Amino acid sequence: MTDRFSFALHATDGAARTGAISTPRGTIRTPAFMPVGTAATVKAMLPDSVAATGADILLGNTYHLMLRPGAERVARLGGLHSFMNWDRPILTDSGGFQVMSLADLRRLTEEGVTFRSHVDGSKHFLSPETSMEIQRLLGSDIVMAFDECPALPADEARVAESMRLSMRWAERSKAAFGDRPGHALFGIQQGGVTRELRQESAEALTRIGFDGYAVGGLAVGEGQEAMFGVLDYAPGMLPADRPRYLMGVGKPDDIVGAVKRGIDMMDCVLPSRSGRTGQAWTRRGQVNLRNARHADDPRPLDEACTCPACRGYSRAYLHHVVRAKEMIAGMLLTWHNLHYYQELMAGMRDAIAAGRFAAFEAEFHAARAAGDIEPV
Ligand SMILES: [Zn+2]
Repeated sequence: MTDRFSFALHATDGAARTGAISTPRGTIRTPAFMPVGTAATVKAMLPDSVAATGADILLGNTYHLMLRPGAERVARLGGLHSFMNWDRPILTDSGGFQVMSLADLRRLTEEGVTFRSHVDGSKHFLSPETSMEIQRLLGSDIVMAFDECPALPADEARVAESMRLSMRWAERSKAAFGDRPGHALFGIQQGGVTRELRQESAEALTRIGFDGYAVGGLAVGEGQEAMFGVLDYAPGMLPADRPRYLMGVGKPDDIVGAVKRGIDMMDCVLPSRSGRTGQAWTRRGQVNLRNARHADDPRPLDEACTCPACRGYSRAYLHHVVRAKEMIAGMLLTWHNLHYYQELMAGMRDAIAAGRFAAFEAEFHAARAAGDIEPV
């Protein structure tokens, strides 16, 4: 265990990388997938169960936590780790993205964003300084710089203006974060799908200097092809000796494609959200447990999976509890989905270390192309 935040690269294979982030709260093996614990819980999962799936770190949402239960309250109660009973690393976002997507009556100025809570209509203000303070109160291990991100498609002038505002905010975030040994601050590259803007953003962030760098402003409606197009060059613009984080991604094939292009960390609500709507992600692709084809199927969801849903239950049972809207349906499918995502990450880490990422990727796509098992 260390009292510092650090990142070590262990192996590369093409642009793909594997390594480890060391923090006082534990090691994060990369490439890493971070389950999303929006409101101080990964929905339908106990923290021990999240850890059992193989997660080294989870993500908390500043916007949600500042509104309810409130960052000062969490701090009084000992910080987010203690509050939610998760003692491993936590990354918090800056709140900026969710203010843009969820809050009402936003007003954006150079200083920050004023908005009304989607929960109770109360008025709030977020800026680089207040976001750093809230993330400090939460006790986050990896803090994200406060930024602004336009939804794509947006015209280039709007993207450029927004990126430059985010770079000024990145500088203010760094100043407000200060010197906090053991905690990390990540800068966020913006610039939409324009290479020159991505370069300008990367240079601005590198000049300020961060512990890690996120590729922001993707997975906001541009589609996989455009996203991969940016990832073909954007990660390479960021310092190679720092972790690179792709925010809000994604589906399994997005994740494999992002790791192939040099991304080290990702987060997404998809495995947990899908689990609550009867959708499972497997080696063979997506399976809808609501479908009547599963009603008499005594086989597990995935015979090779070691998660509790696959070891203890049939497709018929999962179908039944999904249709009956029983709570255990969301619990079992969330567990399976998170387990599958973590197995995928472990498989990629091993493949990169062994120099066989291309073969891993080919096998990944072949298994999905073969599709789900035939109905009984
Ligand atoms: Zn399973």
